[in-house]
Amino acid sequence: MIPYGRQQISQQDIDTVVEVLGSDYLTQGPKVPEFEQALCTYTGAKYTLATNSATSALHLACRALDVSAGDIVWTSPITFVASANCALYCGAEVDFVDIDSSSYNLCPQALKTKLEKSTTTNSLPKVVIVIHMCGQPCDMQAIYALSKQYGFRIIEDASHAIGGTYLEHPIGNCRFSDITVFSFHPVKIITTGEGGAALTNSLELSTKMALLRSHGVTRDPALMTKEPDGPWFYQQLDLGFNYRITELQGALGLSQLKRVDQWVAKRAELANRYDELLTPLPVISPKQHTNGISARHLYVIQLSQPEKRLTVFNKMQAADIGVNVHYIPVHTQPHYQALGHKLGDYPNAEHYYQAALSLPLFPALTDEEQKFVVSTLAEALQ
Ligand SMILES: *Cc1c(COP(=O)(O)O)cnc(C)c1O
Repeated sequence: MIPYGRQQISQQDIDTVVEVLGSDYLTQGPKVPEFEQALCTYTGAKYTLATNSATSALHLACRALDVSAGDIVWTSPITFVASANCALYCGAEVDFVDIDSSSYNLCPQALKTKLEKSTTTNSLPKVVIVIHMCGQPCDMQAIYALSKQYGFRIIEDASHAIGGTYLEHPIGNCRFSDITVFSFHPVKIITTGEGGAALTNSLELSTKMALLRSHGVTRDPALMTKEPDGPWFYQQLDLGFNYRITELQGALGLSQLKRVDQWVAKRAELANRYDELLTPLPVISPKQHTNGISARHLYVIQLSQPEKRLTVFNKMQAADIGVNVHYIPVHTQPHYQALGHKLGDYPNAEHYYQAALSLPLFPALTDEEQKFVVSTLAEALQ
């Protein structure tokens, strides 16, 4: 089977994890802070909190921005459900902004229109969560300008995007957002098994997220409400969670991060080759914008004849090619429909979904495999 995505694990990755297994710390040792520092250095963000998943990091990000009951959070319908669920965890309401049909990212123009409408109905969002879909950066400058005008905060769900750039700065540096989140799930750009991170330039947000990551408990006397009873003392200041990542994962992340640029370059090479190979076929290849460099997490094509997708999907799976569909619009999920969202609400997103097909893309994909994917697709489209 050629999967749609696959991690790459080197002997060095294995050695570094095994070394941690023999060390004094399996959690809360030196490797996690080292990994966090490496992510700061790589992206230029001031603070990084590594977590046990991107989902946890998104939850921490919402909590740090004080998202709570009565608040509204907006996001794109074309994403994994976690980008919206994090707001529901906080008791907030979720609403969506339709995508731009060429980038598949949240459309700044649709955002502007919705903000104008929401001003009159007193339903402005507290936070907007944008997704760099497939790794392609959103139009952050436009979204940032709107955030200043309408007073909302921004979380970048960059689960697809580590290794990419926007206006020549690394994704993750939070120039145009409050917090950026990465995922280190095995299908993403680099992996820690499960894992994620929240990055920010704000000491206040970083401190809040650090507290909430570990039960809301602090051992820092400066944060306590009274003098410590003794050296053993800790205080719970908020209702937090256990969203910590292990030392094994910290070590793996550090080792993987060394190869991120190499992998993103390889992904670009493979994506460009797909673009060429697919030219004669009745499909639309993903357009790349000039405002940045995509980490190329996913290679999503749009079929010119969406009615053929089910057949194409089945034929390719039968040929052991792990095609996939990213994503089913979140507002069409039963849980969101029960909250009042309706089919038809976001036509661009729904139209995109009908025709979308993700082809296998990962650094170890061979030229032979790629040719096989395209020839099987060509045959399935006949
Ligand atoms: C994978 C993914 C997540 C969730 O990541 P986990 O690390 O599995 O929690 C969230 N948002 C997007 C856009 C993703 O692709």
